Amino acid sequence: MNPSSTLFARDALLPDGWARDVLLQWDDRGRLRSVQPGGQRPANVAEAVGPVLPGMPNLHSHAFQRAFGGLTEYRGQAQDSFWSWRSLMYRFAAAITPQQLEAVAGGLYVEMLEAGYTSVCEFHYVHHDVDGRPYADDTELSQCLLRAAARAGIGFTLLPVLYQTSGFGGTAPREDQRRFIRSTASMLRLLERLRPLCEAQGARLGLAPHSLRAVPPASLADSIAGLTALDATAPIHIHLAEQTAEVDACLAWSGQRPVQWLLEHAPVDQRWCLVHATHMTPAESERAARSGAVAGLCPTTEANLGDGLFDAGAWRAAGGRWGLGSDSHATVNAAEELLMLEYGQRLRSHQRNVLAGDQHRFVATALTLEAVAGGAQAAGRPVAGLAAGQQADFVVLDAEHPLLQGLPSPDTMLSAHVFASHRQSAIAAVWVAGRPVVAGGRHPLRAEAGRAFAAARSALARSGFDSH
Ligand code: ZN
Repeated sequence: MNPSSTLFARDALLPDGWARDVLLQWDDRGRLRSVQPGGQRPANVAEAVGPVLPGMPNLHSHAFQRAFGGLTEYRGQAQDSFWSWRSLMYRFAAAITPQQLEAVAGGLYVEMLEAGYTSVCEFHYVHHDVDGRPYADDTELSQCLLRAAARAGIGFTLLPVLYQTSGFGGTAPREDQRRFIRSTASMLRLLERLRPLCEAQGARLGLAPHSLRAVPPASLADSIAGLTALDATAPIHIHLAEQTAEVDACLAWSGQRPVQWLLEHAPVDQRWCLVHATHMTPAESERAARSGAVAGLCPTTEANLGDGLFDAGAWRAAGGRWGLGSDSHATVNAAEELLMLEYGQRLRSHQRNVLAGDQHRFVATALTLEAVAGGAQAAGRPVAGLAAGQQADFVVLDAEHPLLQGLPSPDTMLSAHVFASHRQSAIAAVWVAGRPVVAGGRHPLRAEAGRAFAAARSALARSGFDSH
């Protein structure tokens, strides 16, 4: 037995629930060959220092937005909203250089790994130079993200964003959207060029039609047909029904709500990730859940932006799949996203343990398993947890950490990690594709990536923001 491709866990969270005395073995590519509970630890195999969790896929990220955390938390007008936040965000998007994007993403991906995310879907919409003209190499900014992910060691799904209009009905794009805008044909050319670059580092390539307000119906259909010709199972992500103003505008344009419109005009199935899908009627929720699409929930960003509360109870009751995204990265912590998701449902329903499962009575256990399964589906990568054939992506909690020490079971340890961590992390180690990327709670590039991030953020803040 090769000791570098095995790990023994007293407790491991498998897709069906906790198992005891589990031997994990993986191959040279970092895929799990076997996950065997109920055995003894072989003499030359290392033992995990605490419960082993499946690595969490992060299904929705705009990396550059990490650079303005803290800069938008003041009142700018009588009623601040998503839309006033967006105009501040656009100033960052207008200014960022390739070097700054790579530095910001590099720092972010290191943070993600330390926080328990082992892969990320990058919803990437800043394509062009600051004047709106394509770079000499149209893949320039995508390559910055790919390099940042490779260096950090995080699994990657690249979702280039199609963005064409500023509102429903084909409204011309705004000047401050010039770095995002491209034709459908140029998007399909970009996808063709990106495909080998993604394959070279084990990343998956998909497509993100930005939203129904940014992509007219014909472009939506053509771009999906083009993507499907390239890769018939490639993931498709779209922002949908995040804001009530967007729902109202869609109704005014088409007489239908966004989710309803999409379900009737696009081939929505398990390839799709409906990001946010916050504002749905019960009928929309049931139909969308039955389509097999994943709901891309971003609880802390949705709270930060005042989007509204997703009705997770109704979605799950209809068999809906879902996963987690850190989106604007106001928070970069998989456990905190689970906490915020459950707390939103408690506040809404006046009950506790709302999202516990029939099979798993501990909320944190149920939510972790569902978010991993949904996140893997949205990523289009074999990262669906601790099972043979999946990638060896996992997180080891430290059973001796003061947060966990003395708790009686892995369920309660995971519960403390999610609900009682108070910003201390009990994560001891993180492995991606069978390789340790975080040890002792730290990524080896933490200091270096943190310095590069801070330098890029300082330059951007000077160029784009008033001092408040
Ligand atoms: Zn987003």
